[in-house]
Amino acid sequence: MDLTIEGKLYHNGTFEQGCLGIQQGKIVAIKKSLKTDNHFNVGNNLILPAGIDLHVHFRDPGFTYKEDFSTGSQAAAFGGISCVFDMPNTQPQTTSIQTLKEKTQIASEKSYVDFGLYTGVSDENIGRLAEISPFCSGFKIFLGGSTHSLQLSTQNLRIALLETNRTKKITLIHAEDEHCLKTHKDIENNLVDHLRCRSAECEETAIRTIINNSHNLSSPIHICHLSSCGGFEMLRKKPHNISVGVTPHHLFFDVHTLDTKPAYYKVNPPIRSSFDRDTLWYGVNHKLIDIFESDHAPHTEEEKNVAFNDAPSGLPGIETMYPLFLAVIKKEQITLGTLLTLLCEKPAQLINLPKGKIEVGRDADFIVVDMKKTETITAEKLHSKCGWTPFEGFQGIFPSMMFIRGEKVIDDHHILVKQGFGKSVGV
Ligand SMILES: [Zn+2]
Repeated sequence: MDLTIEGKLYHNGTFEQGCLGIQQGKIVAIKKSLKTDNHFNVGNNLILPAGIDLHVHFRDPGFTYKEDFSTGSQAAAFGGISCVFDMPNTQPQTTSIQTLKEKTQIASEKSYVDFGLYTGVSDENIGRLAEISPFCSGFKIFLGGSTHSLQLSTQNLRIALLETNRTKKITLIHAEDEHCLKTHKDIENNLVDHLRCRSAECEETAIRTIINNSHNLSSPIHICHLSSCGGFEMLRKKPHNISVGVTPHHLFFDVHTLDTKPAYYKVNPPIRSSFDRDTLWYGVNHKLIDIFESDHAPHTEEEKNVAFNDAPSGLPGIETMYPLFLAVIKKEQITLGTLLTLLCEKPAQLINLPKGKIEVGRDADFIVVDMKKTETITAEKLHSKCGWTPFEGFQGIFPSMMFIRGEKVIDDHHILVKQGFGKSVGV
């Protein structure tokens, strides 16, 4: 074995003092005691699986003044996320083999964490998805327009899903109905206007359309960032291959508690009422939500500091996701078991990755945390290029170390690997 590490392991749903044996990046043994020359003991600190984020916008290529694969993946690493999946709405959009190859090259040179890329599905490339498939980890469909997004017409949804189903890879969908959004379109001056213009009805309609077009398909279909009670109710009738994710911002905010810098919280789908937020927490705690996803979508402060109507939608969140949820375990808002299922295990399962769990045979991707070390989140301590966080002043528990494939990537406040350490996965 190359390395053994001893601490409080989360394994088979409980904690036990024990050792992980690691060889060639994999967990090869989990025992009460194991020893190699390369052994270290983290004492009473917890050893938990690293998180996996199926939904990030690292803005590279095209918008690298907001974020790039280097800064975005550093933010992931310091936030305990060992693997990220990047959305196609960059410049150029990743909708072809050529653009996927280019982005894979960029990420391979810059990323500190493992990564996968999605292909954007549009009316134009719908017939080429099978040939594009070997170059991506899955597909993304925007049913409604959002910042820098590309679009698929609703009448082409069934054809698109039949095509992606053949590839066996996951299809993620931004579920807001374009026709409904157009009907409600108006000048927006604040977050309540934004909520009215992107009403829950638009989410419900899109989810109904997705369910109606998903019959007799077996590959995973994922509904991104569920935000409303109506959408949640619609999903109670979903087929088994449809999964659903929620973001930290839809769980930690509601529209009535955000009165300063409203444009910073402008995001699609919008932050809704406390009633919607409580429904999402209910879903998380009753096994009705499958995963957490950050939808990390940074914009600069300059871009957000304009009239509300002109501000782009999206906010950063990858570095704070795991720490925020670890901190609310103490308040009994979530159990550790639920957190690890939604942040690690289930995302790995959806992409078919050998990560997400402390188990023999999986990648040695884990974090070390001291649950007594709660910190106040401030943008100064974070690593996203955008330089601000919507969670300023919130409490978080950050990992002191993170390992990816058995390599120590983070120790205290230092990054120990070189750019380009991250590997392409899930293709
Ligand atoms: Zn997104």
